[in-house]
Amino acid sequence: MNEFELIARLTSTLPRNASVLVGPGDDCAVVEPPAGADTVLLLKTDAVVSGVHFTPETPPEQVGHKALGRCLSDIAAMGGTPLHALVTLGLPKDFDADYLDGVYAGLNDLARRYDVAIVGGETVLNPDRLMLSVAVVGSAPRNRVILRSGARPGDAIFVSGRLGGSLEGHHLDFEPRLAEAQWLARHFSVHAMIDLSDGLAGDLGHILEGSGVGAELLAHAIPISRAARRAAKAPGAKKTALLASLTDGEDFELLFTVASSDAVSVLDGWKQQFPGTPLTCIGKITAERQAILRTREGPRPLPKHGYLHFS
Ligand SMILES: [Mg+2]
Repeated sequence: MNEFELIARLTSTLPRNASVLVGPGDDCAVVEPPAGADTVLLLKTDAVVSGVHFTPETPPEQVGHKALGRCLSDIAAMGGTPLHALVTLGLPKDFDADYLDGVYAGLNDLARRYDVAIVGGETVLNPDRLMLSVAVVGSAPRNRVILRSGARPGDAIFVSGRLGGSLEGHHLDFEPRLAEAQWLARHFSVHAMIDLSDGLAGDLGHILEGSGVGAELLAHAIPISRAARRAAKAPGAKKTALLASLTDGEDFELLFTVASSDAVSVLDGWKQQFPGTPLTCIGKITAERQAILRTREGPRPLPKHGYLHFS
């Protein structure tokens, strides 16, 4: 199969949505601008590379899922709605068309679930390994875009899900928290939000830096995943479960702050709306610009070492 045959095969089943006027096949895709006078666009691109973000053994559906899911998680973190995606494939010379079908099956499945149209892309030769770069366009009401820079002293800090040990599997099959983030943005004044890609400590650091504030976290409140607990018990484990939950990357959960006066209604509303997904208040924002972890043994500096992606 040559490249043109491959493109024809991959583009024959791409998900569309109501806004697509011209999909793949022309020089550019043509789409309707999002409705609403006060709507802004969100633009995001992200790449996954074989040997870095997945392995040659990873099922191809999960590779596609992860490549798009990372972008959708970022759109979620802004309180936005994803609309369109473009996919660039870096292909080794001896590409396996069936494997790529699987990659696209994963991409398409996730896109359909959130009504995201895959409107085009491109293939390039990338001699030694497969890579996938996905660009997503989303939208959000102008006055409801949630940045990292809005956290205020006294805010309650919340995190969704359970943290740590993602490399045991969660990083390949996570569900981007779009529904949860849109619900939050609609019903509450969320001061700052980020999705967890580098680890809780590192990503909280981005909010603190962006907002010019500090934080106090309660060690006993951090929701630790089963995978992190299991990994900490394994022989030769390098991290305690708590440290893993603070510093492991790729949880793709939401970390956000709201005024403490909103904290109880956020928790109550969330429990009714998303009973299957934990939401935990893990601490508060402080004026003093440092990150403290309160443990039974007393306050400690929050361990800074988040997961560092290769680049
Ligand atoms: Mg992010």
